[in-house]
Amino acid sequence: MNPQAMQEAMTLMEKARKYDELIAFPERDYELRCSFCGKGQSELDKMVTAKNVCICNECIGVCVEIIAEDENEGVSTNE
Ligand SMILES: [Zn+2]
Repeated sequence: MNPQAMQEAMTLMEKARKYDELIAFPERDYELRCSFCGKGQSELDKMVTAKNVCICNECIGVCVEIIAEDENEGVSTNE
């Protein structure tokens, strides 16, 4: 890497760091809870949030299983 490219990379990193601070999430005064199982943010690894609902990684796993089962049944019963 030539010195000029290095300098540009450093500048970009510095900008990114500042941007990170700007977009840092404000602290919430409440804990997000999964809309499906009701577990709190602190009990879970990951949470996907939409406008008014949240779903945790555990419930997503259950959903994936249910959908996979339905697809398998559909294939076996319709034929
Ligand atoms: Zn859940």
